Amino acid sequence: MARILGIDLNIHFSWILIFGLVLFTLSDRVFPEAYPFWSDQKTLLVAAVAAFLFFASVVAHELAHAVVARVFRMKVSSITLFLLGGVANLTEEPKSARSEFAMAIAGPATSFALGGLGLLIEAVTTAPGLQSAQAVAGYLGAVNITLGIFNMVPGFPLDGGRVLRSLIWGLRKDRSVATRIAARGGQAVAVLLVLGGGYIVFRERDTFGGTWYFLIAYFLYTSASSSLSADRAAGAVRGALVAQLMSTALHAATPAMVIGTVVRDLVLPFDLRAVPVVVQGSLVGLVFIADLRNVAQEHWPVTPISEVMRGVEGLPSLGPRDPLTRAMELFGETEAPLLPVLEGAALVGLLTRDSLAGYIRMRETLGLADR
Ligand SMILES: [Zn+2]
Repeated sequence: MARILGIDLNIHFSWILIFGLVLFTLSDRVFPEAYPFWSDQKTLLVAAVAAFLFFASVVAHELAHAVVARVFRMKVSSITLFLLGGVANLTEEPKSARSEFAMAIAGPATSFALGGLGLLIEAVTTAPGLQSAQAVAGYLGAVNITLGIFNMVPGFPLDGGRVLRSLIWGLRKDRSVATRIAARGGQAVAVLLVLGGGYIVFRERDTFGGTWYFLIAYFLYTSASSSLSADRAAGAVRGALVAQLMSTALHAATPAMVIGTVVRDLVLPFDLRAVPVVVQGSLVGLVFIADLRNVAQEHWPVTPISEVMRGVEGLPSLGPRDPLTRAMELFGETEAPLLPVLEGAALVGLLTRDSLAGYIRMRETLGLADR
């Protein structure tokens, strides 16, 4: 949607709700209680400015993560502003404990700095004419400090959980052990949040406030659990290479073949989800079955496959001696049902998502996972 410092900024639809909720809470309760003599228009205007700056604060927090990640040469593709703060999409996991620590702490540090700045401005804008500035600064001070504290809760994958993981990782020199401890921490915090939410709903009779706790707990528990299973899967493939699992039975098309022929001779008989397109053994592109639906069926007998294939330049690929953990990372980033395995430009194999998933399941079933 927007682009800042070369990073795409996506705004999750939940943010429209959050913005509305913040605006409503400020204009209906917080400011009217603190400044009962303000006109309705003034209250609404000041609340809108405060809500917008709150939104900007969350963006600043996320950008801090992204900028530090880039300093350590981690790829950050985009930032999605989500229900509970933001999510910086790292396209790869941090390579070292030090880089993870710096990347994770940057967000909360920014929030604390903005919070401190807000409180400082609140303290110096005591002149009567500056009352609305003081109100906005005071709100931003409090909300940013709350944001910093919440994100430092030591449950992976919250920032605090990443900080915890990087510290254990640095001490024990084992990322996998660190991930398990930090993710268990995330699950434990989620359970505590459910208990806290229950207390608020049943003891304080505040269903709305309690629901927030349940939502955050749900988000945290599922993310921590998926980190655990991703770590378990990575353990299952550790040490294995792409060459061991790739298929070398290559059913490939040439660019001039028409869609009808490819479907009849390759897709249907071999049950392919994607067809590699080669010229003299070199991969030039891939055709995904999903893309064929963009061409009307009556044109299939005359449309060459080159018109629907995705060129090799934009495609992720593997080498036969790449570790399977690399394949897992790539499958995590794309929707592609398979990845071509190349030696130079030559197509030497195909690795499907299904075969990788099956391999991981089998290792786990046989108890061969690395733990
Ligand atoms: Zn953060």
